[in-house]
Formats: sequence, structure tokens, C-alpha cells
Amino acid sequence: MQTFQQYIGGAFEDASETFDSLDPATGKPWAQMPAASAADVDRAVKAAEAAFFSPEWSGMTATQRGKLLMRLADLVAENAPRLAELETRDTGKIIRETSAQIAYVAEYYRYYAGLADKIEGAHLPIDKPDMEVWLRREPVGVVAAIVPWNSQLFLSAVKIGPALAAGCTVVLKASEEGPAPMLEFARIFDQAGFPPGVLNVITGGPEAGAALTSHASVAHVAFTGGPETARHIVRNSAENLASTSLELGGKSPFIVFDDADLESAVNAQVSGIFAATGQSCVAGSRLVIQKGIKDAFLARLKEKAEAVVIGAPDDMATEVGPLCTLKQRDHALRLIGASVDAGAKLVTGGAAPEGEGFYFPPTVLDCSGAPEAPCLSTEFFGPVLSVVEFETEAEAMEIANNTAFGLASGVFTQNLTRAHRMIRGIRAGIVWVNTYRAVSPIAPFGGHGLSGHGREGGLQAALDYTKVKAVWLRTSDDPIPDPFVMR
Ligand code: NAD
Repeated sequence: MQTFQQYIGGAFEDASETFDSLDPATGKPWAQMPAASAADVDRAVKAAEAAFFSPEWSGMTATQRGKLLMRLADLVAENAPRLAELETRDTGKIIRETSAQIAYVAEYYRYYAGLADKIEGAHLPIDKPDMEVWLRREPVGVVAAIVPWNSQLFLSAVKIGPALAAGCTVVLKASEEGPAPMLEFARIFDQAGFPPGVLNVITGGPEAGAALTSHASVAHVAFTGGPETARHIVRNSAENLASTSLELGGKSPFIVFDDADLESAVNAQVSGIFAATGQSCVAGSRLVIQKGIKDAFLARLKEKAEAVVIGAPDDMATEVGPLCTLKQRDHALRLIGASVDAGAKLVTGGAAPEGEGFYFPPTVLDCSGAPEAPCLSTEFFGPVLSVVEFETEAEAMEIANNTAFGLASGVFTQNLTRAHRMIRGIRAGIVWVNTYRAVSPIAPFGGHGLSGHGREGGLQAALDYTKVKAVWLRTSDDPIPDPFVMR
């Protein structure tokens, strides 16, 4: 069994308790993780608070912060293979994906490194002749960052990068399901030269999360996870009236019109729902397909779904690995059962294979004629696609927007004017046209409704870690006039 330590105040240490992490490919324990107690959480927040006010960090120029982030980016790139190996081992995310994703995570740190000294205040053309008024952009303070188990290095980079660029300090709670890559990331971070306490990395379950999000010294909670947990977090953050940014789940529509390039759309749909074994918040999990091409599309999709290479996550040939937890698999089985009972028809997949590990095959459910099937409204977070057909563009739009979520969407059509109408009408934070699942540090990412609020990635994300201070400077040497009249 490997053992991992938590990272508080620039030191690696054991927690008072530990828990076993399971290898999703075998279902067996492979490593021992530190379970942060409420006291550990408190120390981590105090370390972040001390670092926030320390002259080493608060007195550092934005350019220097950017240089440290650049060094971190280089270290992440250099260590990407090791980080990928650990993420694959601990979460079951296939090595083909972790290798590519973590190499790209370095680009997120590079983007925010470059942005650090471009976060500008403003000078205001104030309506008083003897005043100079300007706005300073200052860091919000201690940030509590909470991430789920899928793509933790990526989901934490979009929090740590902008938060540190803005001058905040961070306590990151890794998911209790597969925290190894984040605890190893702490070792890499430690080499970059940041002052101690600027980043603290702990792990543990809901108790540790609750202790962190309700801590009186936390100014902002940046959360990625499910909507139910988000509700707890918002309640906890109310203790301290901390601000929140919430990146939650989705039930994203993947809309294909009959003039689309069929092969390209099928490939994008395969990637949109089966990549990451479907454990992706932006999964295009509702195929909204025009009636005339439905049969041809489903036939091709079934062929491709059944040809997907399912196997060990550490094998470069594997395309779909195990789900991260047994709970995820049970959830998928239950939801498929309830959907079939409601009239959905299995096109392919649907049953868990025999043998060890938390494997689940690519699955397609045709819900035509079963609009109440729960698979159309509930997130699987697994490789399960629900299909619904439409005849007119208006129907496509209505189906697309018939969801409490609003994270991502895809539109496949060759018709330019229709594409524009769909872009305008779809209620989601992202619209991909004739592509799917593309991301970049330069583009904001996030949703609304049950998909949360706030954006990660891009310039705005860094501004969201700042608060504005209005400064008034009187330029007149005359005595201040009538003290009872507001100026
Ligand atoms: P989850 O909500 O169960 O857990 C997420 C994190 O919250 C974990 O670290 C967990 O320990 C912590 N947590 C649990 N209870 C808490 C509490 N009371 N207070 C504070 N923290 C608490 O989510 P999950 O099942 O691990 O991940 C899957 C969900 O995440 C899906 O809904 C998925 O769509 C979503 N997700 C969203 C995005 C996005 O960017 N929008 C990205 C990835 C995943």
C-alpha cells in the first residue's frame, strides 16, 4: 500500500486518521490517504490566512506571482506522466486521457501566470473637480476550493491558477474518491518556490468539506461537484457570508439536424458521451436527433459504441475504463431500470459485466415515445446516452431547453442561419457548433440553473477572485467646507 500525506503551511504531514483508496479497476484498496479532521481543516485555513497577510505574499508584486505560476506550469508539464499515472490508478480515468489532459493543465497555469500582472484597476472620471478617484483590485482572501474526483488536476487548476494570480491563498480539499493526484500535485507545487501556506492540500469527505466551507476565515468557496452538495455548501458559506462559485452537473443536449455531416456528428457524440467513461459534467448525454436521420445515426452509433475498447485504465489502447466508484455503477443501473420501466428502449449496453472492477459498457437508451423516462432529466455521470427525436427546429429548441440544468450544448447543422438561431435560443453556458467538448484556458466555462453560477477559465475567472476598493483622494489645499453637507 502506498501512503500519501496532507500539505499544510508548507509542510507534509500525516493526518490523525486515514482511509483506504480503492483502485477502480480491481475494486481493491491500493493506497492510504490522510483524512483531514476539523482541527486539520482549521490549521490549513489558518496557514492560508497567515500566508495571505504575510509580507512574503501580500508584498509580492503581481509580476513575481506570475513568475512563480510559470515555474509551477513548467513543473506540472515535467511531472505530467507521474501525475497522469496516479490519477489513472486512483480514479480509473484512462491513461490516454489523463496523459493528454494533464499536459494541457500546464497551459492553464501558464495562462494565469501571464494574466497575474494584467489584472488592472481603473481611474474614474469623477464628477467632482477636487478629487482623484480610482479602483484598486485586491484579492478576496482565503479561498476554499473543493473538487470532485473526475479530472481533479484540471478542475483544481481552474481555481488555483486564477486565485493565486489575483493574490489569494487557497485551501484545496481533494475528493475522498481518488485524492492521490492532488496530494502528489502538492509535492510539485512545493518545489515552485511559493511562500508556505499559499496553497494547502487536504482530503476527506463531507465532514472535512463542511468544516472548510463554514470556516470563518474563508472569503470565497470555489466548488465543483453535484447540485445537492452545492446546496450544503451555500448553506455552510452563509455562516461567513462567503461568496461562492458553483460548477455543477448537466444534462446537456447534443442536437443533430438532418443536414449535418453524419460521420462527424457520430464521432463527436461518441466522444461527447463515452469519453471519460461518461464522467464528464459537459457530457452530451441527451441526443436530440431529427426524425429522418435517427435510424441511420443510431445504427452507426451502435456500431461505434460496440467497437469501443473497454479495458484496464493504464493500457494506452483502452478507450473506456471503469467508473470511479461502485456507487456510480449502482446509480447507472438503477436509472436505466427506471427508464426502461418508463418506456425507454435499450439500443446497446445497459448491463454491468462480470468480474472485478467498476466497469460499465457504453449504453444507448432510445426514449422516443417515453418523454417521462428519468434518464432524460437525471444526470448519470456515466457512459449512458438518452435519445429523443424531433421534427422541427422549434421542437429541437424546446427539447434542448427542457432541463433544470444549463451547462453545455452541441448543435450539428450545415445551415448557418439556423445555427445562429440555435446559439441564441439555447439556455446553456456553452454552445459548441459542429464540434463538442473543446476547452481552452482562454475561454470561460460554466453554466446556470442547476449547473451552478460563476465561470472558470478566461480573464473573468481571475477578476472573480478580486474585490474592488474605491480610493478617494482630495487634491485641494483649501479647508474642507461645511461638514454637514455630503460632498
Ligand atoms: P459531490 O458533490 O458528491 O462531491 C464533490 C466534492 O464535494 C467532494 O470533494 C466531496 O468530498 C465534497 N463534499 C461532499 N459533501 C460536502 C459538504 N457537505 N460540504 C462541503 N463539501 C462536500 O460530487 P461527485 O459525485 O464527486 O462529482 C460528480 C459531480 O460533479 C457531477 O454532478 C458532475 O456533473 C459534477 N462536475 C461538474 C463539473 C463542472 O465544471 N461543472 C466538472 C466535473 C464534475
